[in-house]
Amino acid sequence: MDAGIAPSRTLRTQVRAALAACRGAFGQAAKFALDIALPTLCVACREPVDGEGVCAECWSKLSFIEPPYCPRLGIPFVYDPGPEMLSMEAIANPPAYQRARAAVRYDEVARTLVHSLKYQDRTDLAPAMGRWMARAGRELLAGADMLIPVPLHWRRAWHRRYNQSGALARAIERASGVRLRGELLQRVRRTEQQVGLSRSQRASNVQGAFKVSVDRQAEIAGKRVVLIDDVLTSGATVDACARALLRARAAQVDVLVFARVVDGPKPPI
Ligand SMILES: [Zn+2]
Repeated sequence: MDAGIAPSRTLRTQVRAALAACRGAFGQAAKFALDIALPTLCVACREPVDGEGVCAECWSKLSFIEPPYCPRLGIPFVYDPGPEMLSMEAIANPPAYQRARAAVRYDEVARTLVHSLKYQDRTDLAPAMGRWMARAGRELLAGADMLIPVPLHWRRAWHRRYNQSGALARAIERASGVRLRGELLQRVRRTEQQVGLSRSQRASNVQGAFKVSVDRQAEIAGKRVVLIDDVLTSGATVDACARALLRARAAQVDVLVFARVVDGPKPPI
């Protein structure tokens, strides 16, 4: 019996060694092949795509915001009224920040991207989204001293592990060269989610929620700041952040978001 087992054990060992060698060689070759041939996947639907970003189909569903738009709020206009014509919203309800720009309208594909980044740890989406934002916000970034992402309360950051606005800001820093200074603005009060609240409820929910600590105010004073967030809805959150930065004597605060809610193209007044 021993005589029967011994050769088969030897054979098994030899086969195993040969297989391991094969796997090693194949693994290296496969890895090399993957390195040069693995197609990039569409960030929205995961289909293979040429180059980076989204596939042609998802790209066609994203609505990139292009001029003409309100020079203050970035809300798209249906026709070009000429430079410096503001939207009704900018005149009726001027925000604390100077200008806002968004890469895309907040619609289905944009929502998929935002939710994947925010809730599914898809930090791999941030570079493409950040590049689109850097393009949409190039006139804001041209004169900016620093980028500040809208901060999460530390308890929420702890649960979510990272701040999606911070991930976008890092990508914009790489694309634009403007320095990220996320540590200068803090969320000092935990706030309810803004979803489902009215405009005035949103404003009071975030009032006093953000602060530049006294020992960091000198680093903000006289500086042009671009606030970074994922989505702009009523603008209450970025407005509260802008107020905190202006209290610390920032020279100007602009806002750059990935997507903004647009009711429909508006005529200028
Ligand atoms: Zn796609």
